[in-house]
Amino acid sequence: MDRELLEKVKRHEISFHEVDKILDVHASIELRRTAISQLTGTIFDHISNYSMDVEVVTKRNIENMIGAIQMPLGVAGPLRVNGEYAGGDFYLPLATTEGALVASADRGCSVILASGGANVRIFKDEMTRAPVFNTKDIIGAKNLVDWVNANFERLKEKAKGTTRFGELLSIDAYTAGRNVYLRFAYDTKDAMGMNMVTIATDAAVDLILSENDVELVALSGNMCSDKKPAAINAILGRGKTVSADVHIDKKIIQEKLKTTPEKMADVNYRKNILGSARAGSIGLNAHAANIAAAMFIACGQDPAHVVEASNAITTMELTADGLYCSVTLPSLNVGTVGGGTRIGTQQECLKMLGVAGAGEPPGANSKKLAEIIAAAVLAGEISLVGALAARHLAKAHATLGR
Ligand code: NAP
Repeated sequence: MDRELLEKVKRHEISFHEVDKILDVHASIELRRTAISQLTGTIFDHISNYSMDVEVVTKRNIENMIGAIQMPLGVAGPLRVNGEYAGGDFYLPLATTEGALVASADRGCSVILASGGANVRIFKDEMTRAPVFNTKDIIGAKNLVDWVNANFERLKEKAKGTTRFGELLSIDAYTAGRNVYLRFAYDTKDAMGMNMVTIATDAAVDLILSENDVELVALSGNMCSDKKPAAINAILGRGKTVSADVHIDKKIIQEKLKTTPEKMADVNYRKNILGSARAGSIGLNAHAANIAAAMFIACGQDPAHVVEASNAITTMELTADGLYCSVTLPSLNVGTVGGGTRIGTQQECLKMLGVAGAGEPPGANSKKLAEIIAAAVLAGEISLVGALAARHLAKAHATLGR
């Protein structure tokens, strides 16, 4: 190791990222790690162990790399999914440190399997980016909105010039005084699409600025609304809007969940609906974020999008034979190409589900992944509501999580 360089990095005379220009990728990682080890007195026995292709990840996924974090990976299933893209039995990769979560998901999967599988349908598939413009006054704001509506096809062409797969579908305008928010919505096929739509929208913005007397304040004006809890995503959708449901016979509820449909419907109403309403929650669910987070981490999705996945609504209604359960996730942002999906361990998890890489036709794989995750969220909801109805929750966590 270059001792002189190491000392300069430790004294901040050379920044972490400048090391990449001096050394090859492996040596850069090791030097930064050694510097941090010495500066903080930490021995990195674990962070230094990994198998991912650092040539790839340091170009696309991470800056100032010093190593990798490990998460335990569990499996739940089989989960039977009756979707338009996902059909059959799937084993779910779940990366979590929450004891009892995988066991709970597994129990939900077995209830769904015994009930013939979860139906899943995607109702909308649009990724959004919403730049904010400053105009002279509300007349200027109206002029901009009119211009955008009249020139949609030209803006679509500009966006198209930046991507082989992305397609601009619509632009919805929102105003606040003289501020104009243009919510661009795209079909991003197998990509989750945030880089794609940001680049495409930037190109369209150039055309807007060249023909209108307006100022771009920011390429993202927060009406996208990316990685923030927002009613607009819950109402209009963002990424995939997807629902899953299942009819469960009361005998299966008794046998596998040790409770009754009546108790589960009551818990769902008083907890997921009333309790969430009382709390001012955007999502009305038990723990959609738990399943989404574990699947997102395993499958190379952007974990910050769990915020949007947690917008889910869970329903449970009594039927003549038992219980009807559903989840609706208005804003599930997932992809099978790009982002973290290219990392080795995440690729393997995507392969387990048969969704690694580009689908045929394009978009089929990301839709299949969305359907599997929605069904997995349904499994998680059934299991947790069942555990609460049977008063098993504390016991399960005491046994499995402590
Ligand atoms: P990406 O890593 O930029 O890769 C997506 C690209 O893959 C597409 O643009 C497309 O290239 C190509 N591609 C190949 N086969 C495809 C197929 N079948 N369907 C669709 N595209 C295909 O990924 P991204 O999904 O656009 O963005 C995800 C990343 O954005 C994540 O790392 C996430 O953390 C990050 N992110 C960025 C922002 C931001 O503001 N930029 C915000 C949130 C998250 P062509 O476009 O050339 O066709």
